[in-house]
Amino acid sequence: MKKLIDYTWDDRNNLILRYTYTFMPKGILTRLIVETHPWIEQQKLVWKNGVVLNKDQTRAEIIENYNQREIKIRVAGNRTKELMAVITHELEKIHNSYERLQYQTLVPCNCETCKNLPTPYSYSLEKLNKRLNAGRYQIECENSYEMVDVRRLIDNVMLQDIRADGELKPQVTQLQSELEQQREESLKQHLKDSNQKEVFISYTWRDQQSKPLVEKIEQAFQAKGIKIIRDTNAIGYKGRFKEFMQRLSRSTCVILVISDQYLKSPNCMFELVQIAKNEEFGDRIFPIVLPDAQIYEATDRLKYVEYWENKVQELDAALKKVSAANLDGFREDIDLYAEIRQYLPRLANILKDMNTLTPDIHSQSDFEELLNAIAQRLDE
Ligand SMILES: [Zn+2]
Repeated sequence: MKKLIDYTWDDRNNLILRYTYTFMPKGILTRLIVETHPWIEQQKLVWKNGVVLNKDQTRAEIIENYNQREIKIRVAGNRTKELMAVITHELEKIHNSYERLQYQTLVPCNCETCKNLPTPYSYSLEKLNKRLNAGRYQIECENSYEMVDVRRLIDNVMLQDIRADGELKPQVTQLQSELEQQREESLKQHLKDSNQKEVFISYTWRDQQSKPLVEKIEQAFQAKGIKIIRDTNAIGYKGRFKEFMQRLSRSTCVILVISDQYLKSPNCMFELVQIAKNEEFGDRIFPIVLPDAQIYEATDRLKYVEYWENKVQELDAALKKVSAANLDGFREDIDLYAEIRQYLPRLANILKDMNTLTPDIHSQSDFEELLNAIAQRLDE
């Protein structure tokens, strides 16, 4: 079978076990991979129908051949039996979750002839156990007709405890509890990561005042362990739209650094309009208004409306000179500018009514008030 991922395998002294299924449900291997994922080699050696686990210098290769309805396990290294025991234990749990799943566990023969064969004769584990219970300690290999020790066949692949009634049962090992512990930890970490809240910052790098301010904010927040997502507005708004919206939907808070340039930037205003379209706009935004952003006087606010109206007209005029085939990109720009123009009076109104501190006061207090307000919002 073709391997999708390249790796080396030492096939000396391997423990080998095969499972064959009468009917093979889809997803057995996937579930096994989920259960054993803390041990995936370099967290990389995993593909659609196989995985290589590595634990304490012991490796296990598990391959699913769906068409042949089988799962094949090879284990090599120092603690082969223990690792095999963990894998079979995990598989057992998965098997038990299916109703009436019919399968066979196949143990390879260890006679002199079979030892060197790529496909040795194999015995059903169930039948070996039955035989042992009936006091038959040997079985004939169908390849070599040699008599083989039943207990050694079983013992080769399984860690066993002999119960009082003489029956064999697989041992739950130290390694097993280690896996369970690691699994729990990785789940906790995963939950923590997905719950981690982000603070988004919207600003324009074109502005000389904004950038150093943003850097200071970033440092102050980092010191408190709050991650700030900032964006250099390097890619056009169209390219960033999806990514931005995805991020934003996760972010509870958005710091806005509003400058004159910000109010004139298509990228920034695009972001602001998107945020405004979301619910709880007022609760989510934390504006810092730079002195050159003139939003406090009605006549000044009108200048920005005028600015965007002119933009629409300019573009509209330019459009008339362009052939119809090239109109697509321009159309989007016009739509955006028109949307900005439409939202701007309302946005500027909200911003001016918000009780914002000046950038100086923010800086002097090391953004204490901003931090407190955002920390409170993140805790909700
Ligand atoms: Zn044999």
